[in-house]
This record gives sequence, C-alpha cells and structure tokens, in this order.
Amino acid sequence: MELAKAYDCTGCGACEQKCPQKAIFFADDHEGFPTPHIQKEKCIECGLCNKVCPAINMPKTNPIKEAYAVQLLDKSALRESTSGGVFSALAKEILSRGGVVYGCIWSKDCKAVVCSADTEKGIKPMHGSKYVWSWAGDTFPEIKNCLERGTSVLFSGLPCQAAGLRNFLGKEYDNLFILSFFCGGAPSPLAFHKYLRTIAKNIPLSHLDFKFRDKTKEGVGIHISYNTKYKRKYESYVANSYFYSYAQKTCHRLSCYHCQYRYKDRIEDITMGDYWGIEKYHSEFDVNDGVSAVLINSNKGQSLFKAASKDLKVSVTDINNIARGNNLTLGETRVEFNIPEFREEFFRTLKEYGWRTADRKYLWDMERTRLWVRSVIPKNIKRVLKKLGFH
Ligand SMILES: Cc1cc2nc3c(=O)[nH]c(=O)nc-3n(C[C@H](O)[C@H](O)[C@H](O)COP(=O)(O)OP(=O)(O)OC[C@H]3O[C@@H](n4cnc5c(N)ncnc54)[C@H](O)[C@@H]3O)c2cc1C
Repeated sequence: MELAKAYDCTGCGACEQKCPQKAIFFADDHEGFPTPHIQKEKCIECGLCNKVCPAINMPKTNPIKEAYAVQLLDKSALRESTSGGVFSALAKEILSRGGVVYGCIWSKDCKAVVCSADTEKGIKPMHGSKYVWSWAGDTFPEIKNCLERGTSVLFSGLPCQAAGLRNFLGKEYDNLFILSFFCGGAPSPLAFHKYLRTIAKNIPLSHLDFKFRDKTKEGVGIHISYNTKYKRKYESYVANSYFYSYAQKTCHRLSCYHCQYRYKDRIEDITMGDYWGIEKYHSEFDVNDGVSAVLINSNKGQSLFKAASKDLKVSVTDINNIARGNNLTLGETRVEFNIPEFREEFFRTLKEYGWRTADRKYLWDMERTRLWVRSVIPKNIKRVLKKLGFH
C-alpha cells in the first residue's frame, strides 16, 4: 500500500488510527513533522489508510450559510481568547450538555497537542492560537467512542484535522460539532523548539507560559509574551523572530502551501477567524478587545451557535467584508502559497547552527528592518515624524 506523498500528507493521523493491523506508525521527518510509515510485513492491503486520508479523499464540503461578527460578553474570558472568543461560548454550551470538548493545548514541553476536557478549568489552556503544527491523531478513536455513547462532542482544530476526523468517522453524528478556523498554515514543531531554546535559556519550557496573541498591553493584534527568569516579556510580531518567520511562511508543513481546505467551501460546521478590518463595517463593537468572524456551514452548526449566542454579542455581517481581511485563507478560488526558495537551506542551517543563525541568514531583509525600526520608535516621535512627512 502507498500512503499519501510527503508533499501532500497533513499529518492528521487518521491512517494510523484506522489501520486494523497497526501497520502504520508516525515518525518525525527532517523538518520535525510527524509523517506516516507502513510496516510492509504487517500490511494486508485493505486500503483503509487511503480511504480515510484527507490528502487523497476530501470529505464532503458545505457552502457557507451565514456570516456573523461575534464578541464574548464576559470581558475577562474575552481577554484570554485570541479574537472574539467564540470558541469559549461554544465550548461552554457543550459542557452544559454534559459533553466533551477537544482543543489544542501546550504540553509541558511546549508542544501543541489536541486533547479533551469536560470542565471549564480543562478548557482554559485551549484558549490562545498556537501558531505551530499540532498533533490530534490519537483523539479520533476516543471521539468515536464518545459519540457512540451519545455524548456531545465539540472538536476544535486545524481544517485538515477536521477533514481527517470526518474521514476517520466515515459517517455523520448528530452529536458531533466540528469547529475550525481560517488557517494561514502550520509551521514546523522543530523550528518552534529551536526558537524556544533561544528564549528559554535560564528557565524550563514548562515555566515559559508562551502566548502568541496576548491582549494584556495593547489589545487584540499579534503581541507575543512569555516569561523570562526575571520578568514577563512582551514583543510585537516584527520584534519576534519566530512570528516573523510564520508571517513569511518559511517553515510551514509542505501540505500547507497547497492546502485543499483553504477555501470558501468548508469541512467544518462552524468556522472562526479574526475579523480584520471590522472597524469599517461594525461600529457597534469595541474592536480593541477582538472580534471573531464566524461562518455557519451546517444546520447542526446553526443550532449550536444559536444556543451559545446567549453569551455573545452577535451582528449579521457580509462574508465579503470578512474575506477582504482574510483573502489568503477564504478566497473564491483556492490560493497557493509560494514555497520560499531558501526553505530547504533554512532547515539545513537551523539543524546545524540553530535558530539565531538561520534567522539572521534568511529572515533579516530591508522590509523587516523598516518594520522593526517603526515598532521601536515611541508613539510621540512617530507622530512628529508623520507630521514631517516620514511614513
Ligand atoms: C496555525 C493557525 C493559523 C491561523 N491562521 C489564521 C488566519 O490566517 N486568519 C484568521 O482570521 N485566523 C487564523 N487563525 C485563527 C485565529 O487565530 C483564532 O484562533 C480564532 O479566531 C479563534 O478565536 P477565539 O478567540 O474564539 O479562540 P481562542 O479562545 O483563543 O481559542 C483558540 C482555538 O483554536 C484552537 N487552536 C489553537 N491553536 C491550534 C493549533 N495549533 N492546532 C489546532 N487547533 C488550535 C484551540 O483548540 C481553540 O479552540 C489561525 C489559528 C492557528 C492556530
């Protein structure tokens, strides 16, 4: 049996979980992405691995039914969320039904992994976007068991994980709700760890409390924060070399560059994302706290969203306005990202010399220097420069 090519494999784990012979295992490739391998001697050529593979068989997609601008009413929970906090409200609704929520957390060694929670305390670490590829495969059989027992399940993960789960299950369950997001791609866990080593010199990874989207100081946006030995450090995205590499799409999983799921027809019941540019269309929101763009793609999604709306401020919106701020992830046509020419070299340098050298060699260009200078100039000096005609 041949599995999906490495170029296409999203690493969802459905093949490993489905194989009746336990003939498939995942191992990290040279870029740090878990990829599947077959033990030929165990394989009985049943073809189930190909059947459930979302890179080979795309599950049925749904056209978008409705679009909303959404913000959580509970301000303190909103501050913990990445954008408008819709995940929080949906998760709470599932818990009130005695259900289980699957979402992505940081493990003790700062790996992004999808796991389950059936209490509000358990949901807390799921908040916050982790801009790194995450592992979800092990959860699929567990989710199936919950569904068969009649328990309500909310699965919140990458669009390709949502597709893997749908294929793994192979049928619709009324008690399964899938939530995913407009996804700009998932970078290498190896690259992330090489970066973490540069900031976690005197403190264990478990004490970092790394956040990509911390709203504490400047509201919604890309403001990275983490603990150092002496204080909590805050950085803008240009000052943070890892996030800059994310924005440049330097080390995404290869399948991300030509992702099949970055499109307006959706796999999941509900799609969420940042509502960039909302200030132009909805003056009723305090945009500084973050507003979610929400797409409803199925009747099930509609009913869950309606029930969760008691905890949300909701305005009907125009999908075209959402797409304007998210044109790469929600296009009319599927957008392919360019693979940077230096990507291979970047990984080679990263492995041999570490993050700082790879960053200096491949990611410091004039544009980053300009952005960085702008980010460190105090606001009052910026205002003076603007008056003098410098931008
Ligand atoms: C890799 C990545 C790329 C993204 N790209 C875009 C984009 O291009 N445009 C855009 O508008 N939005 C993007 N988002 C989504 C956005 O950042 C917010 O996660 C989303 O709007 C949810 O907001 P919230 O306030 O409800 O979520 P929160 O309360 O902060 O919850 C975050 C949710 O995302 C899930 N999650 C976080 N990290 C991961 C991960 N690594 N793997 C799987 N699930 C994860 C959690 O399980 C949780 O359910 C991306 C998110 C990620 C993780």
